[in-house]
Amino acid sequence: MNTAALSIVDTHAHLDMSTFDKDRTEVLTRALDVGVRMIITVGTNLESSKKAIKLATKQPEIFATVGVHPHDVAAVDRTDITNFAEIANHPRIVAIGEVGLDYYRNYSPRGAQVQALKWQLELAAKLELPVIIHCRQAEKDMLDLLRDWVSRHTRRDGRRQGVIHCFSGDSNAAGQYLDLGFYLSLGAYIGYPTSGNTNSVIKNIPEDRLLVETDCPFLPPQSRRGKRNEPAYLPLTVEALAQIREETTETVARTTTENAHRLFRLGESKNNGRL
Ligand SMILES: [Zn+2]
Repeated sequence: MNTAALSIVDTHAHLDMSTFDKDRTEVLTRALDVGVRMIITVGTNLESSKKAIKLATKQPEIFATVGVHPHDVAAVDRTDITNFAEIANHPRIVAIGEVGLDYYRNYSPRGAQVQALKWQLELAAKLELPVIIHCRQAEKDMLDLLRDWVSRHTRRDGRRQGVIHCFSGDSNAAGQYLDLGFYLSLGAYIGYPTSGNTNSVIKNIPEDRLLVETDCPFLPPQSRRGKRNEPAYLPLTVEALAQIREETTETVARTTTENAHRLFRLGESKNNGRL
């Protein structure tokens, strides 16, 4: 594929993780070389959120988020969320996340997951930031919580509720998230033989609600299973999506980039005129 002309946004990466410590600069260069123009590096706890902000402050192509991943919420209390509120005002922060429910791994008790998610949803509403949602085998509780949240907060800025990251639900779940104003983000796993996504679900996502991501270092493309994923592989996902949706690669690149800008306001307002 000729990627020279691409301009795409990796809306979910974990560049703060130690697996990138040795070659983070090269990772970013490789991404830029293939047209990944912006990368959102997503916090998973207080420490990783601070690292994400540091990276975003150094590199104009990188944006950051703050949040506690459901795996990490067991010891989180209200004071921790207040600390998040303080750092979430940073000009390079574009979302609260990743937050959510993971009833598959259950690394944190479910009650703690629900409570931490509620606190962080309220924080996002207060700061008028979108949320990045992680949901694994918890669709019913997630939809109930999000429905309640959306009903109580009319966003002044229209449909910027957030995104369901690594979406792999069925058409019913997709429809409900879309009705609530959420975007759906897809990664390289759509090309795995065991992918839960059926092509018809992917095909029916409205083009103004579709995002792409790597979730790197996790979920590498099929051809690199077992290895570290990185933002430079994002064009493979754009290409796979284009094939499934019977659109051109350029169309998928353009629409997902526009969507990322609309949802996360990349490079707008708060960030002192950079980009
Ligand atoms: Zn993630």
